[in-house]
Formats: sequence, C-alpha cells, structure tokens
Amino acid sequence: MQFIDLKAQQQLIREKIEENIKRVLDHGRYIMGPEITELEEKLAAYVGTRHAVGCASGTDALMMALLALEVGPGDAVFTSPFTFFATAEVVGLLGATPVFVDIDPATFNLDPAKLVQAIEAVNQGQTLEPRAVIGVDLFGLPADYDAINQIAAGHGLAVIEDAAQSLGGVYKGRRACSLAQMGCTSFFPAKPLGCYGDGGMVFCDDAQLDGLLRSLRVHGQGSDKYDNVRLGINGRLDTIQAAVLLAKLELLPREMEQRQEVAERYRDLMARAGLALTTPEVPEGYASAWAQYSVLAQSQQARQEFLDRLGKAGIPSAIYYPKPLHLQQAFAYLGHQPGDFPVSESAGDRVFSLPMHPYLAAGDQEKIVAALAG
Ligand SMILES: *Cc1c(COP(=O)(O)O)cnc(C)c1O
Repeated sequence: MQFIDLKAQQQLIREKIEENIKRVLDHGRYIMGPEITELEEKLAAYVGTRHAVGCASGTDALMMALLALEVGPGDAVFTSPFTFFATAEVVGLLGATPVFVDIDPATFNLDPAKLVQAIEAVNQGQTLEPRAVIGVDLFGLPADYDAINQIAAGHGLAVIEDAAQSLGGVYKGRRACSLAQMGCTSFFPAKPLGCYGDGGMVFCDDAQLDGLLRSLRVHGQGSDKYDNVRLGINGRLDTIQAAVLLAKLELLPREMEQRQEVAERYRDLMARAGLALTTPEVPEGYASAWAQYSVLAQSQQARQEFLDRLGKAGIPSAIYYPKPLHLQQAFAYLGHQPGDFPVSESAGDRVFSLPMHPYLAAGDQEKIVAALAG
C-alpha cells in the first residue's frame, strides 16, 4: 500500500505525458516554452483568477509574493505556526519578522479572532509594522478568508494564500488559490497537482501585480533580458514540468471527486469502528483538496499506539507536523517558549496522517481502519 500512489495515476496518462515531453524535446524551448503560458492560462481559468505566473516551487511562489509587496526588515507578517517550514522561512529570509497566530483546533487553520489580537499586540509594541497575513490552507482545507481578508483590510494589510496543499479545494463557491490578493501553490510531486520535480504558481487578479511577479521571476527583468529594474530571483518553472502538468491537469477534476469519496469513506468507516480519533471537520460551504487525511488522537501516547498498529500491518503513515514553527531551532531568535501557541503544540503532539490519494481502494481503507482498531 502506498501513502500517495503516483504510479496508479501515471498508468492512466503515461502516453500523454510521454507525448507532451517529446514535444518539448522536439521544439527545444526548455526555458519558458509555450507549455508555460498554456498551463498558466488553463490553471488561471480553473481556479478563477485573471492571472497566473508559473514558478520554480511553492517556496518561490511565496517568496515572489512577498517580494511583490516589498516586505522586508521591520515588517511583521502574520501566519500559522502549524504549517510546513517554507511558509515562515521566506518571511525570515527577507529580513521581515514572522508573527505567529495560533490555529483553530477544528480546522488546523489560522484562527481569525487570534489574528486580531496579534495585530493589536504588534501595533502596541511599536517596533514592527504590520504588513501582511499568510493564510495557510492546511491539508487542503481553505482557511477562513472572508474573516482574514476583512481583518486585514481593516488594518491595511495584504493577504497571501498559501495554497500549496489546497489546489482543487473550495471556499464559499470560489476555488482555492483565488481567495486572497495572491494565491501561491506548489507542484511538488505529493501535492494535489504534482509534477515530476519542483514547480509552483502565483495567482492574482491585478494586471500590475501580474507584471511585477513576471519581472521578479526573472531577476527583476525590465524591458529585455539585460535590463534589470529591481532585485528578483531565478524562479522560472521548467517547460518539461509544465508539459507533465498539462497531462495531469486533465485528471484533476475527476481526482478531486475521488478524493472526496475516499475522505467520506474514511469518515464513515471510522465512525462505525468507534475509534478514539477525531476525523477532519469540513465546515459548511468548504471543500478540502485532501492533500492529507489527518486525524487527531487523544494524546501523544495514544497516537504512538495507533502508529505502531499501522506499522505492524505494513501501512504507511506520516506526521504533519510534529514540531510547530515557533519551536524550530531556525526561529529560536524569535524567543518563543513551549506554551506560546498551545493549540498548535497540542495538534503537533496528537496529529497523524493516513494514506490518501484518488486511487485508494475501499478494501485498503477497510484494512487501514481495521488496523487502527487493533
Ligand atoms: C509544500 C508546501 C510549501 C512549499 O512548496 P515547495 O514546492 O515544496 O517549495 C509551502 N507551504 C506549504 C503549506 C506546503 O505544504
């Protein structure tokens, strides 16, 4: 059994992938070939934004979004401590200060009420200027952007959606990646839409911002290759990865339906088994992209017992994320202590993820739940 079965997916579209790669080999435009524009247009249409800018990774997507906002030293960027490291890493790399905001225990996403408190605390501290919020759509479930955007607007802050895990997810009739001023996604192989290497994309509606992101992607390029009008990065998406993604994109809508079926089956099987586990809650009007199916045990020890049972049955599992960002050594300079973000810390102690992909068979899910039941 696979945690994420990329082979089952590949079998369905292997010929199409080879055809698309062959086309790139034939035209030879490995950098910024026509597949990039085609993918940008198709994905912008899918998520419902005017513009999309392909880039080299989800991390670069976040970096380009922050560069576009000219975030730097002295700026506070509010985000969740319960996420992949990259979300706050880019903030620190630019010399700005990540200001963590604890999560809602039911959704694992940034708690809007705590965001208000964090902004007020920074305002009172008078050492940092609040500049932006990065909402994270953890495990594929969009954060509460109506609340986040409203709070941000009230304080003059920009909002970035870290949609690395949520491409295909839905929030109140709109698709993930389109829920804030800029949406950043990742095409790392294990994400809901993955390529065969690294890749990412930034989505936005504003034409000026789109131009700025395109310049930042290529060393702050101006009117031509050797005209540099700002500091940027080498953040281009490879043509071959775009070619792979164009083949995979055709499967995405169906795969999203299959992921919903797998998630519903997990929920029903676990309810019937009466396990002492909390299954993910999807609020009314939301749909998760189910990048991960993550459950909560009642304690760290109970989690270990579940993980041992899965291990004995040969079933792969994972912990996303065992250590919240405020307790990472890389962020020791922020001076946080255990207890600063108790909801994130408790989630880190108790969460674990089960195999989740569109091709997970019902029989395998039954085996997984039987193994959990012991
Ligand atoms: C994967 C991920 C990223 C980084 O994406 P890469 O393509 O690996 O650089 C950022 N944020 C979150 C929440 C992620 O899951």
